[in-house]
Amino acid sequence: MRIGIIGAGIAGIASAIRMASKGHQVQVFEANAYPGGKLSEVRLANYRFDAGPSLFTMPMYVEELFQIAGVSIKGRFEYERLPIVCNYFWEDSTRLHAFADKNDFAKEVATKLGVAPEKVRQSLADSQRKYEVTGKIFLEKSLHKISTWTNLKVLNAMLKIPSLDLFTSMNTVNERHLAHPKLVQLFNRYATYNGSNPYKAPGLLSIIPHFEYEIGAFFPKGGMHSITQSLYELAKEKGVVFHFNTKIKAIKTQNGKAEALQTETDDIAFDRIICNMDVFHAYKQLLPNEKHPTRILKQPKSTSALIFYWGIQRQFPELDVHNIFFSDDYKAEFEQLEAGRIFDDPTVYINITSKLNPSDAPVACENWFTMINVPYNAGQDWDTLIAQTREHILAKLSRILQTDISKLIACEAILDPRTIESRTQSHLGSLYGTSSNNRMAAFMRHPNFSSRIQHLYFCGGSVHPGGGIPLCLLSAKIVSEVMD
Ligand SMILES: Cc1cc2nc3c(=O)[nH]c(=O)nc-3n(C[C@H](O)[C@H](O)[C@H](O)COP(=O)(O)OP(=O)(O)OC[C@H]3O[C@@H](n4cnc5c(N)ncnc54)[C@H](O)[C@@H]3O)c2cc1C
Repeated sequence: MRIGIIGAGIAGIASAIRMASKGHQVQVFEANAYPGGKLSEVRLANYRFDAGPSLFTMPMYVEELFQIAGVSIKGRFEYERLPIVCNYFWEDSTRLHAFADKNDFAKEVATKLGVAPEKVRQSLADSQRKYEVTGKIFLEKSLHKISTWTNLKVLNAMLKIPSLDLFTSMNTVNERHLAHPKLVQLFNRYATYNGSNPYKAPGLLSIIPHFEYEIGAFFPKGGMHSITQSLYELAKEKGVVFHFNTKIKAIKTQNGKAEALQTETDDIAFDRIICNMDVFHAYKQLLPNEKHPTRILKQPKSTSALIFYWGIQRQFPELDVHNIFFSDDYKAEFEQLEAGRIFDDPTVYINITSKLNPSDAPVACENWFTMINVPYNAGQDWDTLIAQTREHILAKLSRILQTDISKLIACEAILDPRTIESRTQSHLGSLYGTSSNNRMAAFMRHPNFSSRIQHLYFCGGSVHPGGGIPLCLLSAKIVSEVMD
C-alpha cells in the first residue's frame, strides 16, 4: 500500500518504520526543515542542547523498532542507565539524590528526611501493582476497539478498579503512603510528566514513578536528539521517503475515505494516511469540511513550558544530568498554573547533558536547559511574564547554589508556549496534548483511527495513549495494529 504520513515527529517516524517494515511504500511530509518535531536540538555558540524532551524512559519501545525493522541497534543507538535519576534541592538547603536503585533511594530518604525506608518501598510497590493491572490495557491497546475489552486481563483490571485510586487525587495517594511533605512533593512531581496537576489528577498516575525506579531513567549516547536521528536513519534505510519544508494543506476525502494529501503544489494519492500533526489543528486546518469530534477537541490542554537554554561558563559538581529546585509552595504553584499564570517561586528543572556528553559545552562549561512548567497559551503577555520569570529563576538558583548565576550566562535562547506552537503545531503550545487531570481523560483522547473517515489514522502526543516519547511510540504501534 502507499502510505502518506503528516509530520516527522517521533510518532510519525516510528509509524513510518513500522509501515515500511511491513513492506508498504511510505512518504513522510514535514513542515519543518528537520525531523523530530519537539524532539530536536538547539545549537547556540559552542553549546548544544536537546530542544524539548530530556528524560528518556522505556527504551524498549525504541529497541522494538529496530527489531521489527530487522536491523541491529548496535552502533546505531546506544544508551546507559542513570545511577541517579534526579538531584532534588529545597530552599532550606535540603538536598537529596534520587538513586535509581530503590534500596539506595529509600536509604537516602531515610537519612535526609527521616522517613522509614519501607514507606518508599511500599509506594513503589503500589506503583508497580497499578502499572501491571492497567498498563497493557490503557497504554498499549486501542481503547476504541471491542477486542480490547473482551479478554480476561481487562476483566481482571475492572474488578480491581476500586484499588486503582481513580477517584482519589495523586496528592492524596502520596500523602497516604509517604508521610513527609518533601517526599510527597517529590512524588507529586510525577504528575508533571504528562503536564497534569497532582492535586487534581487521579491517583492512578502514581504508576509513573514505576517507570523511573523499576524500569529506569536512561541517557542516550549523544543526547535525546540521537533518538530522532537514529530512527530517522532507520526509516530511510527501510525505504521511507521524507519531504521536508512541505506543509500539508488538506487531507482530501471522497465517499467517506481519505484519499490524498494536498501540498502547496500537488495532490498526492495514498491508500492510507497517518496524521502525526496535533489532532486539533488536523481537523481545523486539514479537514475543515468534515464533521469534527467537538467534545474531544474541546478537552483541556496539558501545561506548556518556558525554557531558557543557557551556556554556563562554569561547572557545578553538585549538579547532575537532571536537577530539580523545588518551590516552597507546590500547591500554590499549581493553582497559579490552573489560573493561567506563572507562580513567582516556580519549581525549576535543569537538564545538563554535558555531564555525560562533554562535547555539548566548551571545556569547563555546562549547557543548562532550564525549564519551568507554565500554562498553555491563552494570550498572556508572554514577553513581560518571561522577563519577570527569568529574574525569579535566576534569584532562586543563585540563592540555592550560592553563586550569581546571571554572571555565568554566556549565551541564551528561549522557548515558550508561542514558539512551541509555531514550531510544532501543538495546540496552544501544550506539551502533552490534553491534560490528564480528569479521571476520564484516557477515554477523551482521540482514537488512533477516525471512526468517520475511512483509511485515516492518528499518532502522536495529542491522541491515545497520550504525550511523552514512550506513549508516542506506542501510538505508532497501535496504529500499525488497527490499520486494515
Ligand atoms: C519542552 C518539552 C519537554 C518535554 N519533556 C519530555 C521528556 O522529558 N520526556 C518525554 O518523554 N517527553 C517529553 N516531552 C513530550 C514529547 O516531546 C512529545 O510528547 C513528543 O515528542 C511528541 O511527538 P509527536 O510525534 O506527537 O510529534 P511532535 O514532536 O509534536 O511533531 C509533530 C510534527 O508534525 C509536523 N507538522 C504539523 N503539522 C504539519 C503539517 N500540516 N504538514 C507537515 N508537517 C506538519 C510538525 O512540524 C512537527 O515536526 C517534552 C516536550 C517539550 C516541548
